[in-house]
Amino acid sequence: MDKGGAPIRRTLYIRPVGAIDPDTIRWLQKDMRASVNAPVEIMETMPVPADSFDPGRGQFHSTRILRELLLDVPDDAMKVQGIIADDIHIPILTYVFGEAQLGGVASVVSLARLAQRFHGLPDNGRLFLNRLHKESLHELGHTFGLLHCHDRNCLMYLSNTIMDVDKKGGSYCRRCFGTLLTTLDSGR
Ligand SMILES: [Zn+2]
Ligand SMILES: [Zn+2]
Repeated sequence: MDKGGAPIRRTLYIRPVGAIDPDTIRWLQKDMRASVNAPVEIMETMPVPADSFDPGRGQFHSTRILRELLLDVPDDAMKVQGIIADDIHIPILTYVFGEAQLGGVASVVSLARLAQRFHGLPDNGRLFLNRLHKESLHELGHTFGLLHCHDRNCLMYLSNTIMDVDKKGGSYCRRCFGTLLTTLDSGR
């Protein structure tokens, strides 16, 4: 806290959107903390915004979830990432793994397609967490202003399918991580 000033916005917040397994959220907190070396806290669960549901598609509209996340941002928050169990979309795409405000505060990640059972296969907890690690840090990267990266080993490589998620590497390339750290240090 600055003397008499506003609190320093340095904390990354994870916010469950609807019911989420608390172990998954706690695992993600540790994973994010270790990956970007910043304080990561968990906010209380927010209900899934009712107006984000599209009955025709049976999915939730991720942009509306971002809007709701922005209504309640803690004073010391640098970024807020919502985690939702349901499948999400934006109108021009069949589905998305997540959505983020480029260079903004909020992002959201869906767990639905990260689970093997969604694809008709037996569950694999390790694979699920590996995918969550990649997609959470990918969307977080966008909020730090990172664009898609051409390096296939980088987390910021574009993933259109779950195969793409599995193929790409599990860390930021040096360039992307450098940009992220500069932004993190500047407190924006
Ligand atoms: Zn992306
Ligand atoms: Zn990169």
